[in-house]
Amino acid sequence: MNRMKYEFLESVRDEIDKCVKCAACHADCPTYERSFSETLSARGKIRLAKGILEGSIGLSKRVAKDFSLCLSCLNCSAVCPPGVDTLKIFTAVRSHVYEKKERGRIESFIHEQVLPYPKRLNILAKLTGASSLLYRMAPRMIARYFPYAPDGKARVTPPLLQSGLRSRLKEVNKPRDGKTVRRVAYFSGCMTDLAYPDTGVHVAEQLNSAGVEVVFPEEQVCCGAPAYFAGDMETTRKLAMKNIEAFRNLNVDAIVISCATCGSVLKHAYPQILPDDNGAKEMADKVVDFQSLLVELEAEKKFKADDYSDEKLKVTYHDPCHLKRGLGVSEEPRLILKNLPGVQFVEMENADSCCGGSGAFGLEYYEMSMDIGKAKANAIKKSGASVVVTSCPMCQLTLADALNRQGYDIEVKHTADLIDQVLSTRK
Ligand code: SF4
Ligand code: SF4
Repeated sequence: MNRMKYEFLESVRDEIDKCVKCAACHADCPTYERSFSETLSARGKIRLAKGILEGSIGLSKRVAKDFSLCLSCLNCSAVCPPGVDTLKIFTAVRSHVYEKKERGRIESFIHEQVLPYPKRLNILAKLTGASSLLYRMAPRMIARYFPYAPDGKARVTPPLLQSGLRSRLKEVNKPRDGKTVRRVAYFSGCMTDLAYPDTGVHVAEQLNSAGVEVVFPEEQVCCGAPAYFAGDMETTRKLAMKNIEAFRNLNVDAIVISCATCGSVLKHAYPQILPDDNGAKEMADKVVDFQSLLVELEAEKKFKADDYSDEKLKVTYHDPCHLKRGLGVSEEPRLILKNLPGVQFVEMENADSCCGGSGAFGLEYYEMSMDIGKAKANAIKKSGASVVVTSCPMCQLTLADALNRQGYDIEVKHTADLIDQVLSTRK
């Protein structure tokens, strides 16, 4: 009976059976470290998943909570000796939780009625931006009604009241001079489009400077990360199919991303949820992080050409989980930072530990999120850097909030924004 009932979970039975219960995944699991609750570790979750399949455990609210209390940081799968793909298992369980409607109605409404429609998403972003203005004026009062900061202490909110990237970037962006060496498409993601559009403009400009023609398809929609990590597979599939269509037949040899989470979803989630769709695999195969492409084109070698600066800006780098463990990119951003004129790169401790954000997790479990963020903020402070760079807009927001909460005056920037700042001051 459960075989029929939990088809998605059944499809990951091999992964479940791979777990040898060694508990190696307890180390560095941010939620287990803070709770010592077995069901918040990967091993505990896998045991629950097995129980659900065998019919000994039901899909209760408690189980739903255990599976939502996870940052999808991939630490567990990175250290797992037999290499269990833990996220595949967690996602399968979450999908059945979602089907059973154990999640909130507002969340479902946003997934189903807002995410697939860029105009509606833009309206929601502007409303959120306006309410966060009120919140800055009266944090305690607003915090009573919205999940901004339960203790009423001002929280850093995304800058959503501005023109989005869609209205600032053309559909085709050609290199201004010199010959075109590559033609790529750019998948910006919603956070870059709505909260950090400058980053998107800088990504396109820097690729143009390296001789890359950048196509920015207007029909692209949210990658589906909020729906995917919540287990809403129907919405994720719908969004994936829209994006596959938007990026089909563009005659490009890469799909460039500047948001680690979007990149990871395009690369890993699309082929998982659309196993029979060649378009999903083709799209996944083309995903390239923009920093990796710059390094592949040796763009960073030109940065340092005239570095005579005495005073250097001390910069450290935070590895987004979905970039390092999701896409295997960690050396390239460091290479870029080390080659930027006027920049002194310093490594922080545990640069690849999770910042605590992880989308809905940061809203739902803000206290735990900020406890994780506190450790990160302290590591940044200890590095002595005055700027922390990262390559994921969600990490940017979480880091800014965590640093602000600790009272540290340290700037947070996307790699593309720091490159722009450093190079434009030298023109
Ligand atoms: S490290 Fe891997 S095999 Fe060991 S308990 Fe965790 S998930 Fe299972
Ligand atoms: S993904 Fe991260 S938070 Fe979730 S169980 Fe694995 S290590 Fe823990």
